[in-house]
Amino acid sequence: MVRRDFNRKLWPFMSYDLVIIGTGPGGYVAAIRAAQLGLKVAVVEKRKTFGGTCLNVGCIPSKALLHASEMFEEASHTFPSLGVIVGTPKLDLKQMLVHKQETVDANVNGVAFLLKKNKIDPFMGTASIQAAGKVVVTGDDGKTQELETKNIVIATGSEATGLPGVTIDEKTVVTSTGALELTAVPKELLVVGAGVIGLEIGSVWSRLGAKVTVVEYLDRILPGMDEEIAKQFSRILQKQGFEFILGSKVTKVETGKKGGATVTVEPAAGGEAKTLSADIVLVAIGRRPNTDGLGLDGAGVAIERGRVVIDDHFKTNVAGIYAIGDVVRGPMLAHKAEDEGVAVAEIIAGKAGHVNYDAIPSIIYTAPEVAAIGKTEEELKAAGTAYKVGKFPFTANARSRAIRHTEGFVKFLADATTDRVLGCHIIGPHAGDLIAEVTVLMEFGGSSEDLARTCHAHPTLSEAVKEAAMAVDKRQIHM
Ligand code: FAD
Repeated sequence: MVRRDFNRKLWPFMSYDLVIIGTGPGGYVAAIRAAQLGLKVAVVEKRKTFGGTCLNVGCIPSKALLHASEMFEEASHTFPSLGVIVGTPKLDLKQMLVHKQETVDANVNGVAFLLKKNKIDPFMGTASIQAAGKVVVTGDDGKTQELETKNIVIATGSEATGLPGVTIDEKTVVTSTGALELTAVPKELLVVGAGVIGLEIGSVWSRLGAKVTVVEYLDRILPGMDEEIAKQFSRILQKQGFEFILGSKVTKVETGKKGGATVTVEPAAGGEAKTLSADIVLVAIGRRPNTDGLGLDGAGVAIERGRVVIDDHFKTNVAGIYAIGDVVRGPMLAHKAEDEGVAVAEIIAGKAGHVNYDAIPSIIYTAPEVAAIGKTEEELKAAGTAYKVGKFPFTANARSRAIRHTEGFVKFLADATTDRVLGCHIIGPHAGDLIAEVTVLMEFGGSSEDLARTCHAHPTLSEAVKEAAMAVDKRQIHM
């Protein structure tokens, strides 16, 4: 791993074109792109490893456990129907966690390699901005290092939001970080919040044997997702053993001396409280931007509702200070942060960096997967946009039948007049990969007919996407 030892500090101060605070997908990608464009770049990271939330405690470890637990589930329930008899699979959780850690290590070491390859100087410690052009890095040993720079990018990401009055100990009451480290399968897992992170991590432990109960404040799961898809997803998860307590809030969590917790739940609209017991409580109600201790007040950088305020070119109100990723507006997604990283580096290097926020896919890596891009049907209705719908179920797709994963459907939303694709929502096998061609289509302002007339290989799941595009004009073939 590339690491600069503060005790062997060689310079009173260093001077850069660009100092980036944080090495998550926003920060490290911005650093690499800026170095490619010839800038002298440094990154500052307060974790022991690079890669931020995503690589260390977010996307990557969760997907490693989602994959492993899905294999466990498949071996238990799908293999026999395929004629593959392996007996009742046994769980080796220790090895599953080794797999997760090896995946994380490979990725964070990969980033270290890329930073070195691109001659980017890494500083390990906590950064604070003294003023435009000046960043102070404080190492674990308390020693400080001053960096002078023409430009600063704040890419400090986010952290889990707590529940008022509830103490998170990362053992019994956990955030996603603790929930990805459990060394035993909980008998009962109570998840607070029916968002992406709660449902993904709930799926991991449900597949491994936990009874998962999700308490959600709203009267539906996954607010913001197309309602028809969310309804089907909710039904599928309930079939998998999830219990949802909707329209309810957790008001108290008391942990027992011997572990476990008693959770008080009240109807969101008021009413009688009830208590539930759980071995583990996962608080997954959202994430908040990381701005504490960054010195933004002193430097005069404006913040609104916790997020650093930026213009369309990622500039804060202070000249020479930019911000990207989870710490600014927009969806908290790794690929959004990455694209902003590329764009901000290009802008700083004098080029025309740009992110198209209308074409950012979002994915839930459960089984089946859920993927979405563009507008939901509810958004189009609210905006008074005339639209056409095309749908195609995976039950009618040959490849889905061959792999015995026929749950779900593809849904296209296209402008009623121009046929331009306004949104696409998929629940089904490999939805996260299938959405990619729709992302390209939308990036090019394509129509449903463009996709419907594009040859798709047979037999593939992508034919369901093509058929849904054809269905916009009611000319699907296989249904
Ligand atoms: P981060 O990745 O949060 O990185 C910020 C870095 O800045 C951190 O390493 C932090 O230590 C460092 N830092 C903060 N303050 C300072 C300071 N003062 N000095 C020095 N360093 C500092 N997104 C997806 O797109 N797909 C997924 O599948 C997905 N799964 C997720 C699963 C989980 C469990 C979680 C928690 C998140 C998931 N996300 C996913 C969200 C994704 O991780 C974030 O959107 C992404 O990491 C944001 O990138 P970033 O670069 O803005 O910040």
